[in-house]
Amino acid sequence: MRITEIRELSVPLQGNIANALVNFSEHTVSLVAVYTDVWRGGRPLVGLAFNSIGRYAQGGLLRERFIPRLLAAEAGALLDEGGSAFDPARALRLMLRNEKPGGHGDRAAAVAALELALWDLNAKLRDEPACVTIARHFGRAPAADMEVYAAGGYYYPRDSTGRLADELRGLREQGYVAFKIKIGGAPLAQDVERVEAALEVARGGRHLAVDANGRFDLDTALAYAERLQPYGLRWYEEAGDPLDYALQRRLIEGYGGCVATGENLFSCADVRNLLHFGGMRPGVDVFQMDAGLSYGLTEYAQMLALMEAAGFDRRQAHPHGGHLINLHIGAGLGLGGCEAYPGVFQPFGGYPPGCMLGNGRVRPTSAPGFGLEEKPELAPVLRQLLD
Ligand code: MG
Repeated sequence: MRITEIRELSVPLQGNIANALVNFSEHTVSLVAVYTDVWRGGRPLVGLAFNSIGRYAQGGLLRERFIPRLLAAEAGALLDEGGSAFDPARALRLMLRNEKPGGHGDRAAAVAALELALWDLNAKLRDEPACVTIARHFGRAPAADMEVYAAGGYYYPRDSTGRLADELRGLREQGYVAFKIKIGGAPLAQDVERVEAALEVARGGRHLAVDANGRFDLDTALAYAERLQPYGLRWYEEAGDPLDYALQRRLIEGYGGCVATGENLFSCADVRNLLHFGGMRPGVDVFQMDAGLSYGLTEYAQMLALMEAAGFDRRQAHPHGGHLINLHIGAGLGLGGCEAYPGVFQPFGGYPPGCMLGNGRVRPTSAPGFGLEEKPELAPVLRQLLD
C-alpha cells in the first residue's frame, strides 16, 4: 500500500465577518487529497482533510516541502507495523525531516492537513467513522455525541449590536443552546451592551462565552474582566496575545471566572509553557488547541498527555475549529465539547444535517472517515479537487 499522488486546493472562506483583530473575507483553507493504490468501487481510495479555519491555505509550503517528502518515502515507511494502515506519527517525523525546532507557524498547519488526511484514510480502509479509528488507536471508546456551542456574534459593517440578538435567536432555532460572541472590536461600553443583548437570548451567563481574539493588553484585559465578572460567563477567551503567559496568569488572578485559550498554540512546547506559566486551573479553565493548526492529531494527542500529566482533565479541552474533523477528534478522544460555526466559514464550518441532534448536541454519522463527503457545502470544492 502506498501513496500515489497528493493534491491541494486553496479554498476561500465565505463571509464578510470580522472579529476584534481580523476580517475573514480574505482567509483561505488548504483542502488536501491523498491518493493511494488501494481501489474501492472502481476508484482509488483517497484521504481528505484540511488545515482547520481562521488562518490561511498553505499550498506553497505543501508543494515545496511536505508533499514531496511524503511522496519520496521508501516503500512501507509510512505504514504501521502490520502494514495494513498508515502510521501518522511516522509520516509526521518524515515530513519534519530537516526542519529546525521552534517557530511553529504556518508550517504546523501545512503538515496538519496531510497528517489528518492519513487518519481519514485509515478510517476509510476499515470502512468506519474516523472517531472509531481514533478511539481504537488511543485505547478508548468513542463518544456517541458531543456538546456543541455556536460561535458567532461577529462585528458586522452596519448595525452590529442590533443584528447580534437576531443572529443568536436564529442559532437557537437551529438547536443550539450555548453561544460565543466576539468582544474587543468596539469600545468597552458598547461591548457590554452586546454582551447584555446576547445574555437575554442565551438565558444566562453559563450559556454565553466571549472571545477577544488576543487583542488586549493587560490593563484592557483586566478592565473587561472587571465588567464581565458579574455575568458569570461560560468563559472569557484569548484576552491577550496567545504567547503572553504572564498576562494570562495575571488575568486569571484578577478575573476569577473561567478563561479559555490555546487555539494559537501550535506545538507541545507552547502548551508546556502555558501549563507552566499561564496560571490555568485544573477543573476550571478551557484549552482550545486545534489539531488542524498544530501538526495534526499525533501532536494534539501529546498536548492532551501533557495536560493530564499536569493534573488537568481532557474534558477541559474544547478544540477551536467548529467542523467535522474536530467533531471526530473530540468524540474519539473524549474531549469536553466542540465548536460550531453555523452559517459562517463555509464551506468548512458547521455540520451536515445528519450530525445535528438538537438541544446543543452533535454526533458523527456512520460515514467512513471524517465524513467530509457528506457536507453539502463541500461538494463543489471536492469535485474541483478530485475530478
Ligand atoms: Mg477564539
